[in-house]
Amino acid sequence: MKTDSILHIGFDDTDSRKGMCTTFLAYKIVEYLKKEQVKFLDYPYLIRFNPNIPWKTRGNGAVALKIKTDKPESIKKNIIEFIKKYSAIKDGANPGLVFYQSEKIPSHFSEFGHRALCSLIKRNNAKEFVSKNGLESFYLGNGQGLIGAIGAVGYAFDDYTFELISYRNKSNFGKKREIFKQSVKKMQDLTYPNTFNSFDEEKNRILIAPHGPDPVFFGIRGEDINSVIHGKSLVHSPEKLDGYMVFRTNQGTGAHLKNELDVHNLKPFSSGYITGRIFDVPKVEIGGHVIFSIIKDDQKINCAVYKPTRLTKIVSKLIKGDLIKVGGGVRKATKNHQRILNVEFLQVLRLEKNMKTVNPFCHICNKRTKSKGKNQGFECVKCKKAFSNKIFEEIPREIKCRLYVPTLSAHRHLTRPIQRIGKLNNKIEFDNSRKWFHISKSGLVNQKLEIKINTRKLKH
Ligand code: ATP
Repeated sequence: MKTDSILHIGFDDTDSRKGMCTTFLAYKIVEYLKKEQVKFLDYPYLIRFNPNIPWKTRGNGAVALKIKTDKPESIKKNIIEFIKKYSAIKDGANPGLVFYQSEKIPSHFSEFGHRALCSLIKRNNAKEFVSKNGLESFYLGNGQGLIGAIGAVGYAFDDYTFELISYRNKSNFGKKREIFKQSVKKMQDLTYPNTFNSFDEEKNRILIAPHGPDPVFFGIRGEDINSVIHGKSLVHSPEKLDGYMVFRTNQGTGAHLKNELDVHNLKPFSSGYITGRIFDVPKVEIGGHVIFSIIKDDQKINCAVYKPTRLTKIVSKLIKGDLIKVGGGVRKATKNHQRILNVEFLQVLRLEKNMKTVNPFCHICNKRTKSKGKNQGFECVKCKKAFSNKIFEEIPREIKCRLYVPTLSAHRHLTRPIQRIGKLNNKIEFDNSRKWFHISKSGLVNQKLEIKINTRKLKH
C-alpha cells in the first residue's frame, strides 16, 4: 500500500515584464493538483522578499505550496512541466523550483527565508543550500529563482495577511482592465480595515489592479479569508474572469524592516532599520527629495526621503539631536551618489527642544524690547526699562513622537499600513472548507477550448 508523503513545493522567477506572473502559475498548478486529488495542508504562500534587490521584475514575490500525496514522484514530474510550459524564459525569466519531502521544515530553512527578506543572497549560496539539505531542484536560465523558491518553502511567518488574486481569461491578457471604480470605493468603505490598500481616496484611484500585461485582474488584500472573499464579491466589472485563488502572505507586515542594520557594515541592497540622532539637518534637493544624516555609534549614515512618499514635509521638521528610527533599503554608492538609506518609514522617538535667542520681553508693558545698538542692550519701547541680554525662547515643534509611513500610493507590498500597527495575525489555521480556490464557468469553458486547441495541434 502506498503511503502519503508531505511535499513542500517552492518556485519563483517565472515571469517577465512582458507577461505571466508566478502567482498565476501557482493557480494553474493548484488547479492540476486539485484534479490529482492531493490533500492541501495550507493556503498557498505568496512571499514577498527583499524589495531592494536590483533584479526583481515587480514585487519580488515567490510562491510555496504544502500538500500531502501518495504519488509525489509523478506530481514533481508534472510540476516541472508546468514550469517549463508557463515560464517567460525567452523574456529573461530565470525560474527556480524546489521540492522538500518532509513533515517539518528545519529552522535553518527559515533562516534562509529571513535572509532573502533583508539582504542580498548569491546564487551559489542557493545552489549549495539545495545540495547540502536534500532538496530536489529544477531550474532554467541562471537559476536565480532558486533563492525565492527556497525562501518561500522556508518562510516562517510571525504575522501574515491574505490576498485573493483573480485571474483573467487568456483571451483578455494584455487588454485594458475595466473595473467599476465606485464598487471598489464602496468595497473599501464596507470592509476596511479587514481589507486594506484597495482605494486611494486622496487620489481617487483604484489600487487593486496592476497595469501590465500579466494575467492578474485584481488582488484584494485583507486580514482573513472571509474578508477577502467578501471584498471580491463587492467589486464589479464587465469582464468575465477565469477564477481566483487566496494566498497567505507576508504583505502588509513590514517584515523586511524588522531587523537592525549594522551601521559598521551597511551592505548595499539590504533592508532594515537604524536608530540614531539627526546629525546633518534635512535639506531639500532638486526634485523635492530630502536628504539628511543620522549618527549611530560614531557612524554617519546618509538618508533620503523621496517626494512620492509624501514624507518630505514632515522630515524637514527634524532638527539636530532628534532621536529617530528609520527603516528602509540601502542604496549602493555610485560615482555621483554616496551610499544612502532610502527611507520607508520614520519613527520619531525623542524630540530636542528647539531654542532660539530673541530680544527680551517687557512683562509690564507686554511688549517685545528693541535693541539699543551693538552691545548696548535692549529697552522697552514703552516704559524704557533696560535689559542687558537676549533670552532663550522655545519654538514649538511641528512634528510629534510617533510613526510616519508613506502615503498609500507609495506603499510597497510589504509596507505595514498604519491601521496594522500593533496587529499580529498568527492564529489563523488552514480551513479547506473555505472557497480559497475557484474557477468560474467562463474559466471552465476557456479550459475546454484550450484542451481542444492543444489536441488539434497534436493531431496536425
Ligand atoms: P513578480 O512580483 O511579478 O512575481 P518579481 O518581482 O517577483 O516578479 P522575479 O522575476 O521573481 O521578480 O525576480 C526576483 C528574483 O530575485 C528571483 O529570481 C528571486 O529568486 C531573486 N531573489 C529574491 N530575493 C533575493 C535576495 N534576497 N537576494 C538575491 N536574489 C533574490
